[in-house]
Amino acid sequence: MALDDHATKGVAPIVRATDQMTAVNESDCWDAIVMGAGPAGAIAARQLGLQRKRVLLIDKARLPRDKVCGGCLGGSALALLNGIGLGHIPTACQGVSLQTFDFSSGGVTARISIADRIAISRRTFDDALVREAMRAGVVVCDQTYGMLQPATEGNFRTVALRHAGGQAVVRAGVVVIATGLANAPPGCVAQSAPRSLIGLGALSDSAPCNIVSGSLHMAYGSAGYVGVTAVERGRFDIAAAIEPHALAAAESPGRLVREILQSSGSRLTGDWENLQWHGTPRLTRRTTPIASHRCLLIGDAAAYVEPFTGEGIGWAMQSGALAASLLTGSVRQWDSTIESRWQRLFDQAIGGRHRFCRTLSRGMRVKFLRQLATRGLRHAPCLGRPVLWNLDRPLGFTH
Ligand SMILES: Cc1cc2nc3c(=O)[nH]c(=O)nc-3n(C[C@H](O)[C@H](O)[C@H](O)COP(=O)(O)OP(=O)(O)OC[C@H]3O[C@@H](n4cnc5c(N)ncnc54)[C@H](O)[C@@H]3O)c2cc1C
Repeated sequence: MALDDHATKGVAPIVRATDQMTAVNESDCWDAIVMGAGPAGAIAARQLGLQRKRVLLIDKARLPRDKVCGGCLGGSALALLNGIGLGHIPTACQGVSLQTFDFSSGGVTARISIADRIAISRRTFDDALVREAMRAGVVVCDQTYGMLQPATEGNFRTVALRHAGGQAVVRAGVVVIATGLANAPPGCVAQSAPRSLIGLGALSDSAPCNIVSGSLHMAYGSAGYVGVTAVERGRFDIAAAIEPHALAAAESPGRLVREILQSSGSRLTGDWENLQWHGTPRLTRRTTPIASHRCLLIGDAAAYVEPFTGEGIGWAMQSGALAASLLTGSVRQWDSTIESRWQRLFDQAIGGRHRFCRTLSRGMRVKFLRQLATRGLRHAPCLGRPVLWNLDRPLGFTH
């Protein structure tokens, strides 16, 4: 169901760019403007909306939109959704339940049983989250590019909006930046980790040959890794993290994906060259600071680690919920300690998980360790349990 279908369900429809001059009035002061309608922004907006705040959620894309991502929700992301009353979403979106994880590297494939994992395309999942934000009273404007303006000492922060209908400058008690891996806002610096990989992704309507239903397939080669899984409505999601120099040297993204799959020993074959591939900037990065006067950064905009373990959606939703919880009572009456408290809270809640996943990703880039891990898992799949346990630990969502 597209967002516009809400009109028939008693929820105000999404405001399309051309109508914005009437919906977004320059003289209005919102309690919060959330920039970016991915999982981080949609959850932050919804949680603030549930606190009866006046919230404007904008996205530069036309919604619903696709996003380069494996689309796998792990146990911790599913528990977080349950905790905030959105546990019905994965099933309502017809997400595919995953039971096995096939990992191929150096000609060896290991199979591990996994429970509590669901795969959904990001178009469908993010659309469902945005609809929940709208249900909580949030006004959503798509095809609207937001630019945070430099801080002044006033009781609000301003954002310049650019859209097909023109331009506007709007004010809010707080601006939440959830713009993913886009450029950092003024006053913040985003630093990519040396040797960071870049993302590649595509959706396919036809099943790759040899795919096992309910399985997440991952193939690792020297140029990076590729994940393939079924998502809702019989479609397939292919997501990869790639060495930038390997992509530059490759004939095409599809050819590179084929080479990684073949060199890993994976038996998956598909029409990779004819898919429509999309890319991302470098993946592992950290932004500093992640808070300033009346502004918080959340989700990938604050920090992100290569998606080897596929935890980004959970972290993004968690940071959205935590930010909304921290802002309770402080939207109009700004307390400057919020800035240091947000940095501390983010580090405590997500920093440790980032470090764990970064260590794991780094290890998997060393050929010897990768092959040792694959062989070990093939002979004793239970060796994967401590890693899964660590990844599936519940994510807190109130501070
Ligand atoms: C190859 C790959 C595979 C992955 N696989 C998984 C996986 O299987 N499971 C998992 O949990 N995570 C996975 N991730 C990570 C996950 O995709 C991200 O962590 C997650 O999308 C972060 O959510 P977010 O809301 O912070 O940002 P995003 O989802 O990137 O959303 C940001 C939004 O901001 C909008 N925007 C940007 N700039 C502006 C602007 N100036 N004004 C208005 N709007 C703007 C964009 O249009 C976008 O909609 C993967 C990532 C990659 C690259």
